Amino acid sequence: MPPYDPDNIFGKILRGEIPCHKVYEDEHSLAFMDVMPQGEGHTLVIPKAPSRGLLDAEPRTLAALIGTVQRVGRAVKAAFDADGLTLFQYNEPAGGQTVFHLHFHLVPRHDGVPLKR
Ligand code: ADP
Repeated sequence: MPPYDPDNIFGKILRGEIPCHKVYEDEHSLAFMDVMPQGEGHTLVIPKAPSRGLLDAEPRTLAALIGTVQRVGRAVKAAFDADGLTLFQYNEPAGGQTVFHLHFHLVPRHDGVPLKR
């Protein structure tokens, strides 16, 4: 697996070099709206620590991140009056990853409404 490369879109967002629609931030993590949402309210949660994906992340990074995923997941589900929440996460090109900074996708779901892609 290649090493973490800070010249990725989410690294640039963390450094404030490009904008995002921020919905939550703390010492360890950032959450913002996905620019190509697969459903209304599609949100991304990322660690501030430089992790390429799930497989190279430090345990302490994951421990902090999953707390943010739960907090933001509860908030977006409520904000979009959803019936459920889909969580997904890709690793490496073969796994569907296109941005190489660890992120979790959170998509509020409504009964009978499929994802867009
Ligand atoms: P995939 O592109 O196959 O969904 P990833 O899990 O790597 O693979 O997801 C990257 C996500 O980042 C995509 O959902 C994409 O829409 C989103 N994205 C790309 N650029 C930005 C950006 N500048 N701000 C917010 N989301 C972005």
